[in-house]
Parts: sequence; structure tokens; C-alpha cells
Amino acid sequence: MTRTRALLGCIADDFTGATDLANNLVRAGMRVVQAMGVPTAPLDTEADAIVVALKSRTIPKDEAIAQSLAALQWLKAQGAEQIYFKYCSTFDSTAEGNIGPVTDALMQALGTNFTIATPAFPDNKRTVFKGYLFVGDVLLSESGMQNHPLTPMTDPNLVRVLQAQTPSRVGLIDHSVVAQGEAAIRTRIDQLKAEGVRMAVVDAVSNADLLRLGPALKGMPLVTAGSGVAIGLPGNFGVAPCNEAARLPAAQGLQAIVSGSCSVATNQQVMDFIKAGKPALAIDPLRIAAGVDVAAEALAWAEGHIGKGPVLVYSTAEPSAVRAIQGKLGSDKAGAMVEETIAAIARGLVQRGVRQLIVAGGETSGACVQALGITQMRIGAQIDPGVPWCHAVAPDAKDGLHITLKSGNFGSTDFFTKAFAQLQA
Ligand code: ADP
Repeated sequence: MTRTRALLGCIADDFTGATDLANNLVRAGMRVVQAMGVPTAPLDTEADAIVVALKSRTIPKDEAIAQSLAALQWLKAQGAEQIYFKYCSTFDSTAEGNIGPVTDALMQALGTNFTIATPAFPDNKRTVFKGYLFVGDVLLSESGMQNHPLTPMTDPNLVRVLQAQTPSRVGLIDHSVVAQGEAAIRTRIDQLKAEGVRMAVVDAVSNADLLRLGPALKGMPLVTAGSGVAIGLPGNFGVAPCNEAARLPAAQGLQAIVSGSCSVATNQQVMDFIKAGKPALAIDPLRIAAGVDVAAEALAWAEGHIGKGPVLVYSTAEPSAVRAIQGKLGSDKAGAMVEETIAAIARGLVQRGVRQLIVAGGETSGACVQALGITQMRIGAQIDPGVPWCHAVAPDAKDGLHITLKSGNFGSTDFFTKAFAQLQA
């Protein structure tokens, strides 16, 4: 199948969220390319969906609007028939936005007077009922998100939360309607429009609900949602799940893992790799702070091992050790120094022939992708929920590189071993 126009154009308000959405679209059969920021040139490869990854979640709202509109313009130029504004499945936003203001701006630019809003993602235990968002078994406001440092979510009622961010009238398509399927949802949309409602929060407590919702969104110029709604959209374009969508070039070259994540899951993954007797090198933030060229040391160490199989370079540490480092260096300084060092190591590894790279950590991933000069990635098969293999061309890997960006708490304990095995299969 050849297609020169993208069908679905997506704008994601953060980096790992973009990959999460792309992963769901690939699983539903779309060939997906993710761009880091708004590209300056047309896409030079075929894709059914394009995800533009922004970092607009917590920036000032005028900047978020400007970036989102630039993304919209570029996506329209690629032929996108429907626009998907993707935010977090916990509806992460400040009191003033940016979900409401960006949605209003996109609606205006698209000349549309109605859209939906739902962060429901049942696979990840995010469900919406009567407009209330649940995280696992508890309301959003009891889930820990009420204490988030940047986007504290203290009200679980999404109609109220969104209404506070927009002059547009916000309504609800509740579960009794969604359960009846497409015709009932369309009738409800017409009713809401007649009442002057411009944005409707939609209940969904299961994938079946999202699959019932999908057909009712056919032809809607703008959809706003977490990544869950994506499972029900490709069918509207005649796209069905297929292995072909996730096909990447054959894997080649050397294998390596860099990890700057200190999350519980990553600590277990690092331990699992070490216990299997594979080569692993810990890097010490205090030595970086003392001016030692830790990246050069790590690369010299890696050269001695890398021909024989995957190597791991990590700053991953238990919470007490991280607190001790942060106490000495300050958490921002420690974080930035470690990110910069790991990114330099990732780049050095690729210069030494690594073409299969696992990066663990959300911020760490951002730093590595930037250091590698990657501007777009094709999304491949899922390794674990939310984490696919990707393929990118980079200045130091003009022949192409397989890369996976694993955010903190994602992935099974044997993720590192499993991911490489999947690539060879
Ligand atoms: P996650 O996805 O697990 O949150 P991130 O990469 O987003 O991982 O964040 C981890 C942060 O912790 C990064 O800024 C990283 O540089 C920093 N960091 C990594 N290792 C250490 C360490 N040993 N001590 C202090 N900070 C660290």
C-alpha cells in the first residue's frame, strides 16, 4: 500500500506521551512516524499517521498555542484529514491550561465548533465515568496526582476542570450513551451542539467503550484525548491491525543500553541484567561533578566489551543514593550533569558502531535523542505496553539505528534482554 498523504495528524504535549500514542496507532494497524518538534520540511517517507512531539504541557499557554498551531499547519500540509491533540491520561494541566486553550485555538484554526475530550486509557487503568477520572481504583484527586509538583490535579471532575480552562461550553457524553454505540453517541453530539456545547468529556471504562466511540468520531476535524481513543480511529480510515504496520528495517550492528532512570522498575531491570553476568558499568555523579571525563572512561570501558554482546552504562541508583547525590549537588544540577554525560555516552556508542540502543528514563531519552540529532523516528513493534522499538537515521548513523525510549516505570524486569531478543526474532 502506498500513500503519499498522512491520514491522521497528531500533536502530543510531551515526548514520551507521543511515543505512547504512536504505539497504540501502530497496534491498530497504522504506519506511524514521530517527529521531534515541528519539522521544517515535508515528511520524506510514507505514513498513515504522524505524531508531532512537543513539550507544551507546562509552558506558558501562549507558547503552547503557538507551537500547537505550527504543528497543525505542518500536519495539514502533509494532508492530515483528522487532527488528534494528545495529552496525558491523567489530564495533566495547570489551572489555566494548557488543554483548554490549545483545544480552543485548534478548533478555531480548523473552523470547527465541536470536539471531544477524554483521557480514558483502560489498558493503563485510567477510566472515566460520569465525567470523573479514575486512576486504578481511586479518583484522580486521590491518586497521588494531587501532589504533582507542576500539574497538581485536585478535582477529578473533568467537566469542571476543562470548563475552568476555556470560555467554550463543556458538556458530557456519559456511559449510558457510550454503551449504546455509534448512533446514540452521534445523537448525543447533535443534542449537545444544539445546546451550544463545544467540548464534550466522554466516559469510557473499557476498550470496548473506546471501540464503540471510534466510529462516532469519523469525520470529526479535531479529537482531543489521551492515547486510548487511538485504538478506535484507524478503522474509520479502513485500516485494520496488521504486522506490516510495525515493520522496521532488519536490525544490525552492536547493542547497548544507557540508563539514567532511577525508577523502581529500572532499578530492577538493571539488577536483572547484572545478575545475568552481562557487562555493566555504573557511573558516579560525584566524579562528573569533580571534573573527571566520565563519558570518555565509560566509552573506553565499553570498547573492551561491546564486540561480545550488549553492554549497559547506568547511573541508575536506589532512592537513598539519589537523595545523597542530590543533597551534595542539588537535584537540578545532578540531573542535568548526569543527563549530559549519558547523552555523550550514547552518542559515543553510536559512533563506535552501536545500532541497537535502549535508553531508560524519560528526561534521559530527551537528552539522548537531542545529542544523537534524531529528528524523526518510525515506530515499530511494542516491546512492553507503551514502549515500542523505533528506527531513526542520525548524523552518526546514516545507515539507521534501532532505538527504544523506556520511560521510568515501564517494562518488565527482563526488559533489556527481552528487547534485544525481540529485535533478532
Ligand atoms: P524516569 O523516566 O525514571 O523519571 P528520567 O530520565 O526522566 O527517568 O529522570 C531521572 C533523572 O534523574 C534524570 O534527570 C537523571 O539525570 C537523574 N539521575 C540519574 N541518575 C542519578 C543519580 N545517581 N543521582 C542523581 N540523579 C540522577
